[in-house]
Amino acid sequence: MMNDLPRIGLGIDVHRLQPGRPCTLGGIAFDCEVGPIGHSDGDAVLHAACDAVLGAAGLDDIGTLFSDDDPMHEGRDSAEFCRETMRLVNDRKLRVCSLDVVIETELPKLKPRRQAMRERLAELFELPADRVNVKGKTGEKVDAVGRGEACRATVVALLAGR
Ligand code: MG
Repeated sequence: MMNDLPRIGLGIDVHRLQPGRPCTLGGIAFDCEVGPIGHSDGDAVLHAACDAVLGAAGLDDIGTLFSDDDPMHEGRDSAEFCRETMRLVNDRKLRVCSLDVVIETELPKLKPRRQAMRERLAELFELPADRVNVKGKTGEKVDAVGRGEACRATVVALLAGR
């Protein structure tokens, strides 16, 4: 395997938001009147991050590895998907060098928990927090995100050999 060359991966995930749902994004619990709907906890940020990392590693995507149809994943903490992803990455003698995360949502307000999300992502994907960036944006009233009906996360991951 050509393990010495860097590998880039992209992950995108969208979840609908619903009043009264618990709200976890980037592995951090937010106190918010809406939360993402999902088969698991609906954490679009961790799902997009897993997909970016899996893509860079040349592995199957999160939907294939952790199927929505599997009752085992119902209500599951998405941190477990990250740990499973990192098991596969470590098996391939790869490591995550950096993560760049964009979260688009009207709610919750992300800024106060940005650093907490960076630290949580760093812990889950086994890299220093200064190599994780988290940017929050609103949807500018455009599409489902702008209307507050959904949140979207986009993540780019860089991996290299160990
Ligand atoms: Mg998802």
